[in-house]
Amino acid sequence: MDRRAKSERDTAIMETLKRSAKDLLGLKLTRAQLQAFENYALELTAWNQHTNLTTILDPQDILVKHFLDSLSCLSAINRRHNPKRALRVVDVGSGAGFPGLPLAIMRPDIQLTLVDATEKKCAFLRHMVAELGLITARVLHRRAENLGWDREHRGHYDWAIARAVARLPVLLEYLLPLTRSDGRCLAQKSEGARTEIQAAGRALAVLGGEVENVLSVELPGIAEPRHLIVIKKVAATPDGYPRRAGVPVKRPLR
Ligand code: SAH
Repeated sequence: MDRRAKSERDTAIMETLKRSAKDLLGLKLTRAQLQAFENYALELTAWNQHTNLTTILDPQDILVKHFLDSLSCLSAINRRHNPKRALRVVDVGSGAGFPGLPLAIMRPDIQLTLVDATEKKCAFLRHMVAELGLITARVLHRRAENLGWDREHRGHYDWAIARAVARLPVLLEYLLPLTRSDGRCLAQKSEGARTEIQAAGRALAVLGGEVENVLSVELPGIAEPRHLIVIKKVAATPDGYPRRAGVPVKRPLR
């Protein structure tokens, strides 16, 4: 494809993003936000040539499976917005920035912390945070289990969110310690959400969480609905959790 055809195609894709965000999620993207997404897609594709960040690279797929899928989290987060202060959101295992970065593009009131255990992912995240001018966002090269023990982070966040990081019983051990009392965790799941919730009964009881809501989201061209599992933090996470790095995966609570 020559350069002009490519640029026309990219413009058409951004138009689709604008329309789908409006139709599916009721979100109105400004020109600057659209520009930010276009920039993000270009940087992701360019970096992926030397750093393995994502297997989703077709422009239309980036739009739906990365951008729209991430933005769908706003259907849950919008419900609990207190406009008086910044909303503290931590995205655990953010990888190439999903779902955290698209949320920060849309919502300047979100104070975003992106966490990943892999330095090469963090290098890209730092690059994107600078490139997008997200002055309140920060990137931490840490494991969730260690962050959960850090006084600066434990119980600090209004929302602890994650996509494609671990099964729910494990994920809850990453997210709930970071969440403030009365705060929420958000787990983005595809098929199997119900089964995962059933398997997470003990993790919820031990770590102080309660399933508050499960929202279903349909994305264009994707047969399986996606699920947003919203968990409310109803009790303090006891000392002893999270367990040492690696233990939640090796011995999930059940
Ligand atoms: N959320 C992104 C990336 C998913 S891949 C997306 O949906 O596209 C999972 C990511 O989680 C990887 O980048 C991996 O490095 C990170 N990860 C896995 N376990 C982790 C842990 N315990 N603490 C922090 N990051 C973790």
